[in-house]
Amino acid sequence: MLTNKCSRCHQGDVFESSNPYKLSKIFKMHEKCSHCELVYEDEPSFFYGAMYVSYGISSGWFIIWFTLQNYFLNWELLHFALFVTGFIIAVAPLTLRWSRIIWLNLFYKYNKQYKEHTHQTVTEKINS
Ligand SMILES: [Zn+2]
Repeated sequence: MLTNKCSRCHQGDVFESSNPYKLSKIFKMHEKCSHCELVYEDEPSFFYGAMYVSYGISSGWFIIWFTLQNYFLNWELLHFALFVTGFIIAVAPLTLRWSRIIWLNLFYKYNKQYKEHTHQTVTEKINS
């Protein structure tokens, strides 16, 4: 799921660049899966929902660091706040990518038929 692959067939890439830190391509996604032809953004606002996932991931980071801070680090509050803010900004490209892929997985479950065949052959099978 975190390897930038299509949620339905686990074969085609979702993002154009495999490097999340290539900032010029950060929002550039393939229109559809090269393998099973799943259209990723089937309505214009589809990925707005991914913001909730993104918020969840960021909260998760905060909780992890907050726990570490309480039990191990015991930094000054200001240092801790600056560090966590910097950290969340630094991982933002990853968070964005993961949230979109997780969001995609919520709607399109893995389907073995699509892994082994292209969209066309799956459709032919159903119709025959
Ligand atoms: Zn696919």
